[in-house]
Amino acid sequence: MRRAYNSVMTLPQLTPCPQCATPIVPHRACPSCGFYRDRQVLTVEAGG
Ligand SMILES: [Zn+2]
Repeated sequence: MRRAYNSVMTLPQLTPCPQCATPIVPHRACPSCGFYRDRQVLTVEAGG
């Protein structure tokens, strides 16, 4: 059984976060730093 379209079922195109350079899904807030479009939209606790 060969899966010729194996590469199709991959994650959507990711873009590096402008704040922390973490690969994130476009049009979504960065889950790492909480920034989206040069503004922080999520509350992300720093450190641990
Ligand atoms: Zn980020």
